[in-house]
Amino acid sequence: MYDVIFLGNQLKEPSLTTLQVDPEALLSCRGRVGDFSLRYRDNGQVREEKTLALVANLDYEHEAGLAGFPTFIEDTQIPEEGNLIFIQDYGQLAPAHINRMGLEKALAAAKGSSSRQVYYFYRSLRFTEGTDDIYEEARQAGVAFFRYEEGKLKVEEPGHLTYNRGGTSMELEGQVLTAPLLSPSPHLEKLARILRLNPSEEGYLQEENVYLAPTLTGRRGVYALGGARNPNSLGGFEEEACYTLEEIAALKNDLQPLVEDEREVDDKKCILCYTCYRVCPHAALEENEEQDAMEVLQEACWGCNGCISHCPAVAISIVGEEEEEKKPGLQVLMCENSAVTARKKLPQNIMDGFISREISCACSLKKEDIYAYLEDPADRVLILGCFEESCKHLEGEQRGQRIVDEVNETLKSLDLGEERVRFERLSPPMEADMKKLLGRWREGQL
Ligand code: SF4
Ligand code: SF4
Repeated sequence: MYDVIFLGNQLKEPSLTTLQVDPEALLSCRGRVGDFSLRYRDNGQVREEKTLALVANLDYEHEAGLAGFPTFIEDTQIPEEGNLIFIQDYGQLAPAHINRMGLEKALAAAKGSSSRQVYYFYRSLRFTEGTDDIYEEARQAGVAFFRYEEGKLKVEEPGHLTYNRGGTSMELEGQVLTAPLLSPSPHLEKLARILRLNPSEEGYLQEENVYLAPTLTGRRGVYALGGARNPNSLGGFEEEACYTLEEIAALKNDLQPLVEDEREVDDKKCILCYTCYRVCPHAALEENEEQDAMEVLQEACWGCNGCISHCPAVAISIVGEEEEEKKPGLQVLMCENSAVTARKKLPQNIMDGFISREISCACSLKKEDIYAYLEDPADRVLILGCFEESCKHLEGEQRGQRIVDEVNETLKSLDLGEERVRFERLSPPMEADMKKLLGRWREGQL
């Protein structure tokens, strides 16, 4: 069992055991944070390894920037002499590492030759800790910064630039170096599929840019670092790598479920339709082959209950919730014309220990509903209706009594208990009568 498997570039952290796997070699990923199981190809063989966490760490793809001019990425040779024109043509926030790289290059170029002029054109600059200082140093070293609006900068021929601002036009000569455009690594599509992550529209492994927990993905224990995550990050790679490794070390020391109440799948009801598997945004459900049913991976579950509401077989529930509701086994059906009115005048806790339901009249009772309330052998049903002459529907109480008698008869004939259903009429004063009946029902005296 490794602490972390890097899909792509490996980082070293002495306190963690690590392994590197080529994303192209990855075949499958099962399990959850703390116990992922990865299958991958290695020298013609299929290997399987377990790990606590996974980090997808890939480089961005770099494309030529504005109008196809050379970019200022690391391997671009900057000439030793002559004017230089840096252009950072990002309309919105420029990716932090591109921003930093451009400023560092401009600063080095300005410091490297006193006879040249260095210009820095940008539509947006991102000032974070560290880049602030580089920017100031670059200004002091003589780099001239210009913020421009789209369409105001024209590079008509190599080495010649026209800048229009407030009615004045400026002509500049020098070698143009532009900020590269970034695009996702071609491996990310496959990784997103195997790791069951929702990629962003651009194809990165995060749907949105995450600021407070920058490298988290939708699946707990899986992190997106470097070019695997949205490039508009506030921090730089070092901060994000540091955050990621600290998070994994924390999980290693203390891995707790995120929510207190557990969800479980009833293997007798599950029809393995895979709906929950598809709708869970956190990849927290997996097929349990031994049970031939889906299983909730507790440490991965965020408790959103999306699976519960989508399961067509009503096979998923919150552990303990049903039992809690069923515990008393004492159900009270209250006629809205009598018992419901009386209850409102009684103390709030009068119904504690009962499962109560409102009915429009005893004449509306249906046998199949009563049988459904008697699912557990401990269940009993008390129906509270109006007394003889006061039924709004004239013969509701007679009909109610008849249905209750028939249900009890059937239960008895099937050996499912005697007198489990009771029909009582509330006589005036109804509140006192109801209180007495509920007390006797609770004590098992009815
Ligand atoms: S509750 Fe939400 S996070 Fe948990 S398994 Fe269901 S869908 Fe997934
Ligand atoms: S949605 Fe329900 S029935 Fe379908 S696989 Fe999930 S638990 Fe089973």
